[in-house]
Amino acid sequence: MGVFDHAEFDDHESLHFINDAATGLRAIIAVHSTTLGPAAGGCRRWSYAGDTDALTDALRLSRGMTYKNAVAELPFGGGKAVILANDNAPKTPELLSAFGRAVNSLGGSYITAEDVGMSVDDMRHVQQHTQYVSGLPQSGGSAGGDPSPWTALGVYLGIEAAVSVRLGKDSLAGLTIAVQGVGHVGLYLCQLLHDAGAKLIVADVNRENLDAVSNAMPVEIVAPSEILFANADVLAPCALGNVLTTATIPNIKAKIVAGAANNQLSTLADGERLSAREILYAPDYVINAGGIISVSHEYYGGSSEDQVRADVAKIPARLHAIFAEANETGRPTNELADELARRLIAVGKK
Ligand code: NAD
Repeated sequence: MGVFDHAEFDDHESLHFINDAATGLRAIIAVHSTTLGPAAGGCRRWSYAGDTDALTDALRLSRGMTYKNAVAELPFGGGKAVILANDNAPKTPELLSAFGRAVNSLGGSYITAEDVGMSVDDMRHVQQHTQYVSGLPQSGGSAGGDPSPWTALGVYLGIEAAVSVRLGKDSLAGLTIAVQGVGHVGLYLCQLLHDAGAKLIVADVNRENLDAVSNAMPVEIVAPSEILFANADVLAPCALGNVLTTATIPNIKAKIVAGAANNQLSTLADGERLSAREILYAPDYVINAGGIISVSHEYYGGSSEDQVRADVAKIPARLHAIFAEANETGRPTNELADELARRLIAVGKK
């Protein structure tokens, strides 16, 4: 497995391969950049086809965190951890402890939190072994805890911004929104969209998660293979990455793609493909920054939920600026977001 010449390597500062024979923990911690602060980004536990896929995911996700944190103006660089899930390494407290020790061994250059396949409870175990963790339960109106509701709020506000620009509407009432993945973020997002009067089409590969959403509100459930092509005004990818590809983009009916999933575009050129079809794409790491905004307030301490809410509310203005530039220049939104991120990092370096 090539590392330094990997297509997604992008000058990562360091990569850490963790093997704990006692618990079966196998993990990769990728530190992309510490230019703007410690490399912060969640930990994903996923069943990968192989180590190569896990490495690719870690590299892409950690670079995305550098860009996300820069654009959100957080005092964080970017990093990410992936835990390779398999039957021989169940998610036991011991395995989570081994992960916590691994995070601790990096001395604060990487700060972890929950992502797909990890929960607030898991972070409590991790916390037994390191202070470099966030996304822990809070009380009394303090900032922090599960980042998912904040991610959902930012995505919701971002969808409103995209709808106003692309559809010329100042309300989501009566619009149809297709949500791919109704896990932690997707469920909260559906609730906000439903409360705003939107009609929902949803899909998930997990029956329990579908039951949870359909018990909470009226939704039309479609097969996972159909959701990207649903007859909807907005498509909100809230499952995994790589969903916007040469194969899927020609068949998307929505005029807007705006969701929580990281790395929605399979390649940079897919942003151009969306733009050519006049589908307005809200760059994933700009719209889904709500969770890391909460993590940042929690990690540095002394903040309230109201401060998190105020910072999450800045997401639509960032999107509006990118949408306006795309409109003026005819360039794809993902390229403009990447340029903005790189500019901010360069300023930080100076
Ligand atoms: P989650 O694991 O709770 O939810 C993901 C959901 O997607 C699950 O219900 C899963 O069954 C479903 N899913 C997986 N493959 C699917 C498919 N092919 N079709 C339909 N559904 C499928 O994860 P989450 O925390 O809700 O995060 C969702 C996405 O948002 C991820 O890409 C994550 O990286 C990103 N994100 C999450 C946060 C956060 O605060 N949790 C923050 C930023 C970005």
